[in-house]
Amino acid sequence: MIHFTCDRCGRPIDPANEIRYTVKMEVQAAMETWEDENQDEDRDHLMEVHEILDREDEFDDDHSGLEVYRRMRFDLCTNCYQQFMQNPLGKSKSVKLGFGEN
Ligand SMILES: [Zn+2]
Repeated sequence: MIHFTCDRCGRPIDPANEIRYTVKMEVQAAMETWEDENQDEDRDHLMEVHEILDREDEFDDDHSGLEVYRRMRFDLCTNCYQQFMQNPLGKSKSVKLGFGEN
């Protein structure tokens, strides 16, 4: 039996009793300017697609240097899902409300 754990609070998720939410994030560096300046118009854009697809398959964190593309996947319990949806970018509410600033 597959056992799921919430990636946010670490609580075990029992699929029989609650909904497990899966969050998939796709992060890509926006470097349109570089490409325009450094590459010719006739560069085959299919090449770029293939490079990205290769990265997806590798899941290799050993690529040093600039991180261009990354996919992440998280399992969330219902509680954490609701909190995540209210604040997907993890903005600090404490700054806004002044908690912990005294
Ligand atoms: Zn959770």
